[in-house]
Amino acid sequence: MYKGIGASPGIAVGKALLLKKEDIIIERKSIRNEMEENERFHKALDKTKEQIEEIKKNTGAAQQEIMDAHLMILEDPELIGGVEGAVNAEKINAEAALQGVIDTFVAIFESMDNEYMRERAADIKDVGQRIMMNLLGKEHPNLAKLKEPVVIVAHDLTPSDTAQLDRENVLGFVTEIGGRTSHSAIMARTMEIPAVLGLKAITQQIKNGDILVFDGEEGIVLVNPEEPVIQQYTEKRVKLAEEKQALRKLLNSNTISKDGKKVELGGNIGNPRDAQKAHESGAEGIGLYRTEFLYMDRTSLPSEEEQFEAYKAVLEIMGERPVVIRTLDIGGDKELPYMNLPKEMNPFLGYRAIRICLDQKEIFKTQLRALLRASVYGNLKIMYPMISSLEEVRAANGIMEEVKQELNNERKEWSSDIEVGIMIEIPAAAVISDILAMEVDFFSIGTNDLIQYTTAVDRMNEKIAHLYNPFNPAVLRLIKQVIDNGHKAGKWVGMCGEVAGDKRLIPVLLGMGLDEFSMSAGAILPARKQIQALSYEEMKALADQVLQLGTAEEIEKLLCE
Ligand code: PEP
Ligand code: MG
Repeated sequence: MYKGIGASPGIAVGKALLLKKEDIIIERKSIRNEMEENERFHKALDKTKEQIEEIKKNTGAAQQEIMDAHLMILEDPELIGGVEGAVNAEKINAEAALQGVIDTFVAIFESMDNEYMRERAADIKDVGQRIMMNLLGKEHPNLAKLKEPVVIVAHDLTPSDTAQLDRENVLGFVTEIGGRTSHSAIMARTMEIPAVLGLKAITQQIKNGDILVFDGEEGIVLVNPEEPVIQQYTEKRVKLAEEKQALRKLLNSNTISKDGKKVELGGNIGNPRDAQKAHESGAEGIGLYRTEFLYMDRTSLPSEEEQFEAYKAVLEIMGERPVVIRTLDIGGDKELPYMNLPKEMNPFLGYRAIRICLDQKEIFKTQLRALLRASVYGNLKIMYPMISSLEEVRAANGIMEEVKQELNNERKEWSSDIEVGIMIEIPAAAVISDILAMEVDFFSIGTNDLIQYTTAVDRMNEKIAHLYNPFNPAVLRLIKQVIDNGHKAGKWVGMCGEVAGDKRLIPVLLGMGLDEFSMSAGAILPARKQIQALSYEEMKALADQVLQLGTAEEIEKLLCE
């Protein structure tokens, strides 16, 4: 039995699919038969073409465009001629010839002045890697389209890998690194795929085809267990599904405590499909749309039109219900390779989110234009991430004003009653939340980052996961302070960090007066059931009691009783 971090609840029983990241070493070998070598190369090209066509069939429009570009690279006479030429002239193996041609192409594209052309280098690398895997006869599993149901075992899954996962066939995933609030974990919860993270060296202990049984809540993974154990977990899975079904009767009820305190439960989403799911899971709104996922898994920035369509889709799904769309929050574990941002020593403290948007104004303006134009299709609220000062709020609002002016000049419509709020996820913002409250319409507390910045504990680092503690009294005091400061200025205060959906903390947050709780779709109905059974007055007293305690341990003990 292995015990890791339970990152996304649910029971999975299935065959392991091991994703091993091997370091490919390309040997340069002399060959005798050039014709045979060129034939091998052409077979690899054909196979690559088939694979790309297959991916193309199963993805959306944006991804299809990229795949078309990849198909064009495959047919490029300079690529084909370059490899054949090297094989014939130097009498070397196709792998070495291909490596040489790809490296040259990439270097040429990366040195071009035109940004669009520079971004194409990533496509060439990607296609080159695919051809190489086929030449070497190595499997290149397509995570978006798997042949059978599997449990994925990998060193790491990036947020963009996770976004692509074949929802039908991925029963769950297990990784060696990552914490509960890494974005792959958050996405797994949104997609309701069970996940266990932080299992060191697990890729060396599991073989392809091993039967894995795992519990994404407890963080337990069993390898090839006896039949009665499989039976026991299968029964648990059936029971969980029944409980979930029973909660559906709360789908259209309000979220009101026993003594009449009403709060709102929102969904956290990464794309329009998640919005549909949140809607069907009882969400009274969208409390956080992480728009950065729209920027991932591609090789250039999304256009204004593409963004407009995505935002409009979410607003239309939610109708009159509020939709909080957060502007680009890239950085930390969410990378955009095509932006060619330099590697940083401390990416979570680095050049990211609103800092990039205020620096590269055109990227920000494109997004704001798309948001404002979409605003007429629903109840939009715009939120800036990673705010640490009043200056940033003012600068962002200044750009918003410019964009509104431009749209007016172009006679393009936008709604005049959009609320604009900020994430409170940096302690500096929490400390001056009384001042910030005067300049914004709402706050949404981002506990995922607030915990890591307040306690100086990296949210991604499994080695210190035990120190990443939502019961930390300093964090809870900051949360209370933010709620009070928001209310004093007459503003509503929500929370979209993972704490908002944590059943152990929901009672205290209710008692502190939190107005809106935003969480992954699967957590909404259980939270509604819980709140309907609580008394607000009693929870106020509980919150007061919690705020007097000095250690996380005491707080956890009190709340878990
Ligand atoms: C947070 O930090 O709590 C948050 C909701 O944002 P993200 O998890 O995307 O950083
Ligand atoms: Mg954050």
